[in-house]
Amino acid sequence: MRVFVDTDVCDAHGECLIEAPEVFALSDDDETVRILVAEPPGRLHTAVEKAMSVCPVSAIYVER
Ligand code: SF4
Repeated sequence: MRVFVDTDVCDAHGECLIEAPEVFALSDDDETVRILVAEPPGRLHTAVEKAMSVCPVSAIYVER
């Protein structure tokens, strides 16, 4: 799994950080999210999928 965030779409709502704090963090300017682990290990895949499902602007996508 490879994780991407469309930073043009991300509104920094932060829901993804709650679901997968090991994968997502807010950038220093707090305006977009940044990815901490672009290829998360299997134990984090469910959390990434939850983060995708709660993102209100569908900014997160993955390649498998
Ligand atoms: S939940 Fe979506 S909009 Fe909010 S910070 Fe994460 S990627 Fe950005």
